[in-house]
Amino acid sequence: INTTSARAPLSFEDILITIKTTKKNHEGRINLLLDTWLKAALPQVYLVTDELDSLTSDKTNGHLVATKCGNTYFRDHLCCKTGAEFDVFLEKPEKWWCHFDDDNYVNTERLVALLDNFNYSESFYVGKRSRYPKDYMTYKGHPYVFGTGGAGYCVTRVLAQLMALSVSQGGLVKACQESNAADDCAIGYVVNYLLKVPLTESQLMHSSPNYVPEQSEIYKQDLPKQVSFHYGINLGLYKNETFKPLFNKTEDPTGFYSLHCILHPEDEICSKDNAS
Ligand code: UDP
Repeated sequence: INTTSARAPLSFEDILITIKTTKKNHEGRINLLLDTWLKAALPQVYLVTDELDSLTSDKTNGHLVATKCGNTYFRDHLCCKTGAEFDVFLEKPEKWWCHFDDDNYVNTERLVALLDNFNYSESFYVGKRSRYPKDYMTYKGHPYVFGTGGAGYCVTRVLAQLMALSVSQGGLVKACQESNAADDCAIGYVVNYLLKVPLTESQLMHSSPNYVPEQSEIYKQDLPKQVSFHYGINLGLYKNETFKPLFNKTEDPTGFYSLHCILHPEDEICSKDNAS
C-alpha cells in the first residue's frame, strides 16, 4: 500500500468559513445562527460586516470583522465585503475557504464530508450552480458559470492563491465592475472565465427557492444529508404529516431551530422546556 499518497481525512479545522453580514442583521440573523449551528462552529467562522458592534463582537469571541465597505445592498458595497471575506481567508492557514450568507444554516459535518471528496492540493470551486436568470453568464460573448452566494461556495487555498490578483485588496470590486456582475457572479467570472477552473456542482447546497425553484422542498429524512440551507427553503417540516417539528411556525419562522434539533437533538435548546 502506498501510504505516502493517501490524504489524511479532512477535518472541520481545515475549513475557514466567512459569512457576509450587515449591522442591521446582527441582532436577528446572527443571534439565530449563534443559537444554532454557529455555536459549535464559531472557532472556524468569521463574520464580515460593515460597522463595529461590540456586543456582537463579544458574542462571537472577536470573530466579527468590521470593514469600511458601506452598508447597503449596492453592488460595490457587497463586492467589497465579499472581497474582505477572501482577504480574511488569505491571512489564515486553512486548506479551504467557504463563503455563506447570514441566512444560511450550515451542516458542518456534511460540509467536511463534501469537501473531502476533492483534493485540496488542487484547484477546486464547489457550489450550487446558479441557473437564474439563465444557465450561463456571458462576458464578451463567452459563457461562464458561478456558484450562487446564497447557497454558499468553497475554494481550495491553491485556487485562492490564483484568484488573489483579481479578488484581494479591493480587486473584487473591480472584477464586479468589469464583468458587470454581483459579487458571487464575479467570483465565477474570476474562477471559471479568467482562470478556466470549472465549478464542481453540489446538489446538497441550497439557496433561496426564488433562485432555485426545483429545490423548494426537502423532506425530513433527507435533511441530515444536506450541506447548507436557506431561510426561504421549504424544509418540508410543516408539510410532512408524520413529522411534528419541535417548534411551530410562529416560534420558528425560518425553521432553523427545528432543523437544528433534527441534526443535533442533544442541544439544550431542543429540550422540551425550551421548545414549549
Ligand atoms: N447584505 C449586506 N448588506 C445589505 C444587504 C444584505 O451585506 O445591505 C448581505 C446579507 O447580510 C446576506 C447577503 O447580503 O448575507 C444576502 O442578503 P439577503 O439575504 O438580504 O438577500 P438575498 O440576496 O438573499 O435576497
